[in-house]
Amino acid sequence: MNVSVVLFTSDLRLHDHPALRAAQDGSAALVPLFVRDDAVAEAGFTAPNRMAFLADCLADLDGGLRARGGRLVVRSGDVVAQVCQVVAEADADEVHMAAGVSGYARRREERLRAALEGEGCRLHVHDTVITALAPGAVTPSTSDHFAVFTPYFRHWSQEPLRDPVAAPRAIRVPDGVGSEAIPSRTGLSGLSEGLARGGESEGRKRLTAWLRADIASYEDGHDDLSGDATSRLSPHLHFGTLSPVELVHRARAAGGPGAEAFVRQLAWRDFHHQVLAARPDAAVADYRTKRDRWRSERAAHEDIKAWKKGRTGYPVVDAAMRQLRHEGWMHNRARLLAASFLTKTLYVDWRIGARHFLDLLVDGDVANNQLNWQWMAGTGTDSRPGRVLNPVTQAKRYDPDGEYVRRWVPELAELAGGAVHEPWKLQGLERAAYDYPDPVVELSEGLARFRAARDRG
Ligand SMILES: Cc1cc2nc3c(=O)[nH]c(=O)nc-3n(C[C@H](O)[C@H](O)[C@H](O)COP(=O)(O)OP(=O)(O)OC[C@H]3O[C@@H](n4cnc5c(N)ncnc54)[C@H](O)[C@@H]3O)c2cc1C
Repeated sequence: MNVSVVLFTSDLRLHDHPALRAAQDGSAALVPLFVRDDAVAEAGFTAPNRMAFLADCLADLDGGLRARGGRLVVRSGDVVAQVCQVVAEADADEVHMAAGVSGYARRREERLRAALEGEGCRLHVHDTVITALAPGAVTPSTSDHFAVFTPYFRHWSQEPLRDPVAAPRAIRVPDGVGSEAIPSRTGLSGLSEGLARGGESEGRKRLTAWLRADIASYEDGHDDLSGDATSRLSPHLHFGTLSPVELVHRARAAGGPGAEAFVRQLAWRDFHHQVLAARPDAAVADYRTKRDRWRSERAAHEDIKAWKKGRTGYPVVDAAMRQLRHEGWMHNRARLLAASFLTKTLYVDWRIGARHFLDLLVDGDVANNQLNWQWMAGTGTDSRPGRVLNPVTQAKRYDPDGEYVRRWVPELAELAGGAVHEPWKLQGLERAAYDYPDPVVELSEGLARFRAARDRG
């Protein structure tokens, strides 16, 4: 009897899962396996918000497998050692998994391949599970990856997508392969109060509602901070409870300018993944150095603290940072503003901001987080690396009535309309009535410091 193992990583779903389908097609039985990988914890990637969402995803995946006659096998430890042990216990011939893009994912694949070869077991790595197009599926003539989004998107849009794969109807797991208990949220501390629920069932519900009711207004509404009119599907894409291929197909089927704008954002996700696949060091090193001599953490200590706490004195930046802490998620426009403020106005190293985001974001993702931070810091793929977002102008444009700020900065809730964006304009007793800090730096001063320091190193 042929037995396969499917190693789930960032693809915690049953629908549209080519690796799962391939494993099932060739085998009489399969072991759906998830390993709580020690290396991920040691690298500091097990932020509580993501651990809670992950627990939801694993419980839901187990439920989906059980409804089909199977179950999820969970193990902890070194991923390679655990896979080899399960292969031995199940007497498996093949292991299937999704291709990853990070340096760590690549090394994991290499280590697994080498270890499994020694056991007479083959590793099959499947593309287009985690991204819609595989990194390298489209390339410019002179390089192994696109460094600019617009031409990438042109090619990406013309490339045919594979068809979605149906979820399996029934799954047979061989006897004698034990599992640890499925992790749960219980006992996890440090969670954001407004954290979303994880799991494929939840993701599919949200996707259906999004396609039915909200996608049509995405083009006009996606930058409106208080409107909250984006899909909020990012954690599901990060954990793979939704398939990007299926999302593109279904959005295209919905049609219209909202769907087109949404598909363009999914292409941004693929774009960053293909950059990271080609340049794994971009997770930690400048993609394009600007010879920055960032302020030292010591010199900027108070500013960094104010930024993290949402006490910079710039209401829209503070609202963004408090949304992050409260929900473990932040609106894209708010992420841009918070990142521009830290890297350009405060001239603090993008890695410090990216680390803080990764500590809290439920969708915290090496490709999307590090490369968006680099984009905004001007060390990445932005073709206008010197751009600085003015938090007051941006607030007036994307939160004209001040609703987003009042939602997250209750100290200012009494300030009506757009006045909430400039509390420093209040005078005397009126100003003193608000327990809210003065700006940590004048914008013009921050701009001058950034311009003087950049590219002078
Ligand atoms: C500084 C900074 C850090 C970020 N860190 C992350 C991160 O860790 N994880 C993450 O998934 N996204 C990150 N983003 C991108 C983006 O902000 C989020 O994907 C988006 O806000 C998620 O909300 P949504 O699902 O409602 O997005 P929607 O607007 O509904 O977009 C749909 C999907 O497209 C993808 N997408 C949208 N914008 C981008 C983008 N700029 N880059 C890559 N993919 C995009 C996401 O998968 C998103 O779920 C970051 C952006 C910035 C500026």
